[in-house]
Order: sequence, then structure tokens, then C-alpha cells
Amino acid sequence: MGVPNGVKRDVARLDRDPEYVNPSQWGRRSGRCAECDFDWGECDYVALVGQCVRNVAVFGEALSRIDPAAAVAPGLWSANRYVWHTVDVLRFGTERLWTISADPSYGVPAWDENVVADVRAYDDLSPVVGLIALIEAAQAWRQAALEAPHDAATTHPEAGDICAFDVVQRNAHEACHHLWDVRRRLDESERPD
Ligand SMILES: [Zn+2]
Repeated sequence: MGVPNGVKRDVARLDRDPEYVNPSQWGRRSGRCAECDFDWGECDYVALVGQCVRNVAVFGEALSRIDPAAAVAPGLWSANRYVWHTVDVLRFGTERLWTISADPSYGVPAWDENVVADVRAYDDLSPVVGLIALIEAAQAWRQAALEAPHDAATTHPEAGDICAFDVVQRNAHEACHHLWDVRRRLDESERPD
């Protein structure tokens, strides 16, 4: 399909903005995310863990004020999809952290967010349960992050060797970015006609 390895396309968004960088892509970054303002220069591991857990905690407040089934912007996912995607990001992130802790030489697989969204049928999953699952996933993720060794790495097929910091930073960005995604809908619905 002409898509380089490791690039997971958000087709709708790429069509509108060729400069758009999918938050699922790996790679070292610097500065702040142009969209969600996540600070790629934050190197304090525990601060990143705390930031992620705090962001997860406020999804519910945003979700309560919008229609979770509606696209957050034309052509994009619904808020409910972003919630369930973030659940899976944190669950898979937890497994990656356990791999770094318990079996680093085994490596971890890549996963395709669109395939997982379809297989899990996010649109048919309750947004209320999604918020419960999100809190639960964040608690397990936090514990795995705080217990992970800082001197070990495992292999990811696209990113190469990844350590606990890489996983935590990437997951913290996704939680931040997808909260921002959900809040786009909030801005839209509160905008006067
Ligand atoms: Zn971002």
C-alpha cells in the first residue's frame, strides 16, 4: 500500500494535513507537541507517570459534556473510540513494561490501532464502561511503570530497543493527546453558532 513500516496512517487527518504526525508513530521528538502541547523535553520519569494518570482521571469530565458517539471533528474518531483506544494503549503499554521487567530478551510486537479498533468493535462498547476500564488500566500501568527497571530494554520491531522511559513517555503522550482529541469536540459543541 506504499506505507512505510511503522507509519500508522490516520487517513482522514493526513488528507487534510500532510504535515500531521500520527501520535502513534515512534521516534525521538523534541519540543512540544504542536497539538496537545505535551512536553517531549520532560525527562522526569515519575512526573510523566503522574501526568498520564492525572490526564486519564479527567476524561470522564470531558466525556460527560459531549456526545461520545459523535466524531470529535469531521472525519475523525468519536470520543468513545479515543477512550477505548487509550484503554488499549495503556493495557499494551503495561504488557510492554512487564516484558521489560520480566522477560526483556523476548521482545514486544507492534500493533495496528485501526485493526484493534475494528476487532474490539469500539463503537459497540459502552463509553461508561470505557471510563471504568480507563481508570483500571491506568492503575495497572502506573504500578508496572513504577516497578520497571531502568537499566533494561526490549526490542520492538519498528522502534528497536525500547526502555521503560520510552514506553512511559510514549504512553503519557498518547493519554495527553487523546484527551486533547476528546476536548476538540467540547470546544466544538460549546462554540456559539
Ligand atoms: Zn500530542
